[in-house]
Amino acid sequence: MKKRQFKAESKKLLDLMIHSIYTNKEIFLRELISNASDAIDKLYYRSLTDKKLKVKRDSFEIKLAIDKEKRELTIQDNGCGMTEEELENNLGTIAQSGSLVFKEATEKKKDIDIIGQFGVGFYSAFMVSDEVSVTSHSVDSDKAYRWTSKGADGYTIEECDKEEIGTTITLKIKEDTEEEKYSEFLEPYRIQGIVKKYSDYIRYPIKMDIEHRHLKEGSKDEYESHIEEETLNSMIPIWKKNKKDIKQEDYNHFYQEKFFDYEEPLRTIHTFVEGQCSYYALLYIPSHASYDYYSKEFEKGLSLYANGVMIMDKCSDLLPDYFSFVKGLVDSNDLSLNISREMLQQDRKLQLIAKNIEKKIKSELIDLLENDRENYEKFFKAFGMQLKFGIYNNYGMDKDKLKDLMIFYSSTEKKMVTFGEYVSRMKENQDKIYYACGETVDKIDDLPQVEKVKDKDYEILYLTDYVDEFVMQTLTEYDNKKFVNVSTDNLDLDTEEEKESLKKQNEEAKDMFASMKEALKTEIQDVRFTNRLKNHPVCLTSEGAISLEMEKVINAMPTDEKVKATTVMEINATHPIAEKLKDLYQHDKKELENYTKILYAQARLIEGLPITNPTEITNLVCEVMSK
Ligand code: ADP
Repeated sequence: MKKRQFKAESKKLLDLMIHSIYTNKEIFLRELISNASDAIDKLYYRSLTDKKLKVKRDSFEIKLAIDKEKRELTIQDNGCGMTEEELENNLGTIAQSGSLVFKEATEKKKDIDIIGQFGVGFYSAFMVSDEVSVTSHSVDSDKAYRWTSKGADGYTIEECDKEEIGTTITLKIKEDTEEEKYSEFLEPYRIQGIVKKYSDYIRYPIKMDIEHRHLKEGSKDEYESHIEEETLNSMIPIWKKNKKDIKQEDYNHFYQEKFFDYEEPLRTIHTFVEGQCSYYALLYIPSHASYDYYSKEFEKGLSLYANGVMIMDKCSDLLPDYFSFVKGLVDSNDLSLNISREMLQQDRKLQLIAKNIEKKIKSELIDLLENDRENYEKFFKAFGMQLKFGIYNNYGMDKDKLKDLMIFYSSTEKKMVTFGEYVSRMKENQDKIYYACGETVDKIDDLPQVEKVKDKDYEILYLTDYVDEFVMQTLTEYDNKKFVNVSTDNLDLDTEEEKESLKKQNEEAKDMFASMKEALKTEIQDVRFTNRLKNHPVCLTSEGAISLEMEKVINAMPTDEKVKATTVMEINATHPIAEKLKDLYQHDKKELENYTKILYAQARLIEGLPITNPTEITNLVCEVMSK
């Protein structure tokens, strides 16, 4: 018989399992039972549509057996089984979800300890076995096959005898070593305990022969025993159990295994709702975004169960896009088992459930925000972007539901704050919410336009995500307080007197500004003096719907659409440079042109915009320096 080799990736994972120093080796049983249960599920679904299949649904079961002499533990199911090709493809290659995530996690974290936290699959059998054999008879084949492997050096597949449809996995349990007592996996009570711990909710009975010893009737010291087949699991899924019987650890365990996450969830929501449509829901807010979360491949949705039977893996209608990060399941007795995807979308009950769930998630997030700010910030780092998309998607249809979930960095508090908190601190005469945009908090803090507003003691929200400004533009106001961008909008911070004086200065310098604008060709709309700045000499502002920040964002997108903000160069009316410019306009027009170009380049640099003529500018600066 030809020995076949594992695919390279699989071999790595297998090596990891065989040489695992992981102490929680017992989880191999959870993995094998979970596979067995999946296989029965598959056959069950097939039988729903394929009437030719002769399947007795109430005979579905998983059987465990121990042979101490031979050091063998077997796990037998009457599920769909595997064909020869499937044995080759499924067990010779890792391609499956759980194993892949596991591999990624180990590569990233270099921490073997995450091993027990979620599905690592079939190969975990090698943590406790010298040899594993899988005998399987598929519903799609008239022959049975046996896959055997002693580990990393490969495996064999041969035809064999097995009448019934299903799979039997036989583990040759390792000999005990100094550190590790593998023999415990041949003790019925130990196996019983492991099943109870990890697989209690499995929907099919997990059966094992248990020996019962009792005193012989009429005797004081003589025992007799009889063997009885027992069902080890309660078959009640975790979400149908009473909350008080579930530990957070159990919830976490279920989450990590079912949703392939190596981190614990941030929050767990477990509810039972009774009414027009009764349902259980078990929902989780993850503590980080999965690697594909912000990609096209990501599919949102909750698993949907009808009376304990999963009818859809990812029912997207149960979650709005802005809460797409939520993982979990819904189980309702009021839904039909045979309902199609198309019909589900129309289903009134499902819409009702979706609405309730949305409310529940929102109130859970608000609770997190109010009572556990640290974790809310963690959440917001991971999923805030999605909430922001939610605000401006669909023309802002959902903005009011989401605005109270926003947090932004505050210039005065030096931490993330909500709009509500900002408003509650507003100064008596303040009627606007100030914000400023930039790449980082530090860079915004250095913006010339920010300085003046800070100087007047106003709180400013710092927006560092590229979508942030779109959020503000969609919301336009909070609690009747308008959002204003300190760099572009008219802030109206000046007194009447100051305004009047500025107007006069601008009027007087009209001709000078015209020649400065001429020097910059078509680059800008206008040049003028401003009171907006405190110490800085110059800044750029924009007029119209597109701000400089938006110009950067939109132009960085991979589309052909390029936009240009209508830019105005503003010069600090109280800065010495203002007088210098006036002087040059009188005596040295050529030099005024040079100064204008340098000032404009400086303003662009501060805004984080590129300079189109860096060589010319550096030469000009040196020319001025050499004078
Ligand atoms: P995963 O369970 O994450 O898919 P595994 O390595 O545990 O990965 O299993 C690989 C594949 O082998 C499964 O997806 C399934 O198709 C098949 N398989 C494993 N055990 C059984 C079984 N008892 N009956 C039928 N198919 C099985």
